[in-house]
Amino acid sequence: MGGTFDPIHHGHLVAAEEALFALGLERVIFIPTGDSFHKAQHKVSSPEDRYMMTSLATLENDRFRVSRIEIDRHEPSYTVDTLREMRHWFPTGEVSFYFITGVDAVSTMMSWHEHDSLPGLCSIVAVTRPGYGKEGFEFLKSFPDSFRKSVVPLTIPSLSISSTEIRKRVKEGKNIRYLVPPLVEQYIRKKGLYREARLEKTSKR
Ligand code: ATP
Ligand code: MG
Repeated sequence: MGGTFDPIHHGHLVAAEEALFALGLERVIFIPTGDSFHKAQHKVSSPEDRYMMTSLATLENDRFRVSRIEIDRHEPSYTVDTLREMRHWFPTGEVSFYFITGVDAVSTMMSWHEHDSLPGLCSIVAVTRPGYGKEGFEFLKSFPDSFRKSVVPLTIPSLSISSTEIRKRVKEGKNIRYLVPPLVEQYIRKKGLYREARLEKTSKR
């Protein structure tokens, strides 16, 4: 499961857990993005902070792992490159990959770098997300057959949580308890993440 995870929240964790059980997976590997070239609209927290939060959030689940594969690659990285690199450790024929992602991300996949190669590398688990894909998985109809065959639609319990909303709430001094795991909440507080606007305001007084 790839993501910016800025920060990781219960929406991500529920999606991973649901996919794990629905598809009988052995483990879920969370892969925080390294370079944030496709999220230029906001300042993304450092890879190390996002890696730490992802590790803290997944600590208690034996089947969850976190990979530094994208963080340690100091150049823009694409999902297709990550999957190819991971094949070195998990050879075809021995291990099947399922790329877990929300329908908001899946609906943009036709513009992803080398997207035609993705179905040869993994199955794509498209999980439902409130506010996106109102007609369910209708958008898949516009995908070429070859691609659609690799998509596994999965309806999961709806959690209307986004990292954007969490960052906004922290910035406004609002509560984020129960939206993120307690350790992530503590980490955000301890490191003063997402508070820029409040700090600016205070210093002007
Ligand atoms: P941002 O608001 O910064 O884009 P986000 O909440 O969308 O953050 P990402 O790190 O962008 O989180 O998402 C990683 C993956 O998790 C994506 O495939 C996304 O679709 C999926 N995802 C995120 N939140 C949810 C949710 N509440 N329910 C289902 N899937 C989700
Ligand atoms: Mg997102």
